Amino acid sequence: MKKKRVVLTFPHGLLDKPITYHLIKDYDLIVNILKAAVTPKEQGLLVLEIEGKEQNLNSGINYLKSNGVKIDLLKEDIKWDKDKCTHCTACVTVCPTEAFTLDRAVMRLEFDKNKCIGCGLCVTLCPYRAIEIVF
Ligand code: SF4
Ligand code: SF4
Repeated sequence: MKKKRVVLTFPHGLLDKPITYHLIKDYDLIVNILKAAVTPKEQGLLVLEIEGKEQNLNSGINYLKSNGVKIDLLKEDIKWDKDKCTHCTACVTVCPTEAFTLDRAVMRLEFDKNKCIGCGLCVTLCPYRAIEIVF
């Protein structure tokens, strides 16, 4: 099984098409929607984590491309340095997927790597350089 994180940008005309349904049903893929945003009358953006057999993954990606969907692979990984972190929560407010959250009981930051889509927003925001992008 292989896993890919991708950003899909698709034109307005495709917004009402059941794209994720086809990935699951026709290509036997596990699809996890990490982020979805639609600009009315313009375009849609989906950040997906797709998992399945390599051949199915490639076929699914080809299906998307043939339907006019633009695909970018997310490759970056985020490294959080707990020792540098002051738990200021600046990254919590900016993270679109809630990969960084605050455990309010102890007022400490928590990081769920599986939720991170590698957008990098937190990296530039952290005042203590506690987050790095690892290529
Ligand atoms: S912005 Fe940096 S220092 Fe602040 S909570 Fe996040 S990782 Fe820690
Ligand atoms: S890179 Fe940072 S802001 Fe973006 S999803 Fe990952 S943890 Fe959240």
